[in-house]
Amino acid sequence: MDQQRHTQKKIENCNRHTFPIISTHLAIEVHGAQVYSHRVFEEFQEEVKYSIGTCKSRGFTECDSLEVTTVRDANRDRNYEVTYWPDTLKATCSCRMLERKGILCRHVI
Ligand SMILES: [Zn+2]
Repeated sequence: MDQQRHTQKKIENCNRHTFPIISTHLAIEVHGAQVYSHRVFEEFQEEVKYSIGTCKSRGFTECDSLEVTTVRDANRDRNYEVTYWPDTLKATCSCRMLERKGILCRHVI
C-alpha cells in the first residue's frame, strides 16, 4: 500500500513539474499536453498523429444547429461520422472513443 502511494505521488509530481515532448506543434496537441496526465496524453498524441496521416474529410452537411462530417480513416479502412455543435463547441464521433476513453479521437481532431 505504501509503495502504491509512493508511485502515485511520483506520477502526480511528474505530471505537475514536467511537460511532455510535443511532436506536431498543433495547438490541439499543445492543449492536450496541458490538460491530460502524461499517460493519457501519450494516447491523445497518437490520435493527433493519426489524424494528420490517415484521416480525410469526405463530406460535410449542416443541419439546424449542428454540422456532420464524414471522415475517411485510411488506417482502419472505414468511414466515421463526426457531429459538431458550434454553439457549445461539443463534438462526438461514431467511433465513440470520447465516451469510452475520455479522449478526442483522430476523426474529431
Ligand atoms: Zn472517431
